[in-house]
Order: sequence, then structure tokens, then C-alpha cells
Amino acid sequence: MNDCLFCKIIAGEIPSKKVYEDELCYAFYDIDPQAPTHFLVIPKEHIVSCGEVTAENAAVVGHCFQVISKVTKELGLQDFRVVSNCGERAGQSVFHLHFHVLGGRDMTWPPG
Ligand code: 5GP
Ligand code: ZN
Repeated sequence: MNDCLFCKIIAGEIPSKKVYEDELCYAFYDIDPQAPTHFLVIPKEHIVSCGEVTAENAAVVGHCFQVISKVTKELGLQDFRVVSNCGERAGQSVFHLHFHVLGGRDMTWPPG
């Protein structure tokens, strides 16, 4: 995916502040944090959104959640929120599947 911002971040073509990386996924701090801790976990495989998860690519989504569990523990985050915006009306602005992980402050519900 030549034109995808997050594919470029994975490739190191655009700098980012890495939180975690392995062969399947990459995690990095959001450039515009919405909480004291705000990082993104993305599969290295280009998947557009949660709306494009299939039997073939679902394993990497489970892996992303394993990484969320591991990294939040390492960062000492006990209470946190995981968000994935799917589609423009839901607030998605980068069309490469990503999980926002937000913590370090009280959260309200419902989200806007
Ligand atoms: P979305 O709006 O698609 O749910 O989330 C995209 C997120 O990517 C936003 O929170 C935005 O701040 C973040 N973002 C956009 N461009 C960059 C970038 O170049 N570097 C980093 N680290 N985050 C970015
Ligand atoms: Zn991509």
C-alpha cells in the first residue's frame, strides 16, 4: 500500500516513537495524544479497518490484543480504553486498521 501513512510508518519512511514491535505488529505513540498515555497498535499487514477483518487475517487482530495486554502492563496502565474507529462517520482518518490505547485519565461514556 504505497500511499498509506501507517504503512510508511511501519517501513520507517515516516518517523514515529516506537512502543513495541514484532513481526506481526507495530505500536507507537499517537502524534496528537488524547490522554496522558495514547498509543496505537497496528498490524503490519495492511487491513483497512475492523470492517475488513476476515477468517484469513483475523489472527493478527488477536495478536494486537495480546500486545495491548503486554504493553499496558509494562507501562503500568491498569485502566485504559481501546478504540478502533471504522469509517469516516465513526472518526476514522487513517485507513489502516489501528487500535487506539488511551489511559492515564478518567474516561466518560458514551464517547462522542
Ligand atoms: P483515526 O482518526 O483514524 O481513528 O486515528 C488516526 C490517528 O493517527 C489519530 O489519532 C492521529 O493523531 C494519528 N496520526 C496521524 N498521523 C500521524 C503520524 O504521522 N504519526 C503518528 N504518530 N500518529 C499520527
Ligand atoms: Zn497501510
